[in-house]
Amino acid sequence: TPYRMKGVALITGAASGIGRAVAHTFVAEGCTRLVLADLNGDGLQDVARELKALDSVVQTCLVTCDVSEESQVQGMIDEGVAAFGAIHYAVNNAGISSKPRVRTHELEVESYDRVHSVNQRGVWLCERAELRQMLKQEPELRSRAGTTPQRGSIVNISSIFGRVSHGNVGAYGASKAAVLGISRTDACAYGKDGIRVNSVCPGYIRTPLLDHQIKIGTYPEEMIKLIPLERWGLAEEIAEGVVFLASEKASFITGEELYIDGGSVVK
Ligand code: NAD
Repeated sequence: TPYRMKGVALITGAASGIGRAVAHTFVAEGCTRLVLADLNGDGLQDVARELKALDSVVQTCLVTCDVSEESQVQGMIDEGVAAFGAIHYAVNNAGISSKPRVRTHELEVESYDRVHSVNQRGVWLCERAELRQMLKQEPELRSRAGTTPQRGSIVNISSIFGRVSHGNVGAYGASKAAVLGISRTDACAYGKDGIRVNSVCPGYIRTPLLDHQIKIGTYPEEMIKLIPLERWGLAEEIAEGVVFLASEKASFITGEELYIDGGSVVK
């Protein structure tokens, strides 16, 4: 059954891979108002066309912005609220990979800063702006009798590398572990306000980001042996978990870390 998501969804990094699949899944579950943000404005236009083809009533607000820039993040929220009046579901997905073969003793501080500015600072800046907006909203999302009406729900995209190494070295794992910390802290701090915060930790998912790593040889085909289900994951499989956690169906779930990884994290 569709979740029939009544609220407004905001997705960062929506022009590609997991973010694009999350936008598709929100629409499949009945969401008709989406704020889509990315550095890649042309990519956003393509995704908006795809969503309109899925459901003609869908309205999109497209924001070309860099999530690591405070003023651009505020601009993203302002544009979304001007278009739709509120932000109920926020998915902080925009992220970049680092040079995974470079170990710490060889890593340049510029490389560390670049990954952390998007993956950690970007998630934190977005989350802060989303919380400020959600706190202004009336609690109105309710799933079933006996549950607390909610102001909003945030899902942050971390990674299995926030918890395990699997041979991945460099700055990426630390930036994704930080995402888990941001989610846990705010899940505890904003529960009383009717705002839930969860993390999704994807494993090896065939998106342009992973395709690039395979091409440069970071993940040879033998890596599939590290995945109990013995295949790469699909962006759609991440999107299902993200939209579930964002939805009112997950009304008693906060501070959770959902590993969608074909079993990689327990291998
Ligand atoms: P992707 O490269 O296909 O898409 C990422 C999108 O984010 C791109 O459209 C890019 O333009 C956008 N983006 C990058 N920096 C940005 C910035 N500063 N501001 C705004 N937008 C920006 O990657 P993906 O595989 O879909 O990854 C999405 C998220 O999932 C990332 O956080 C990534 O770390 C995480 N993840 C991916 C995998 C995987 O196997 N693909 C595994 C674990 C975690």
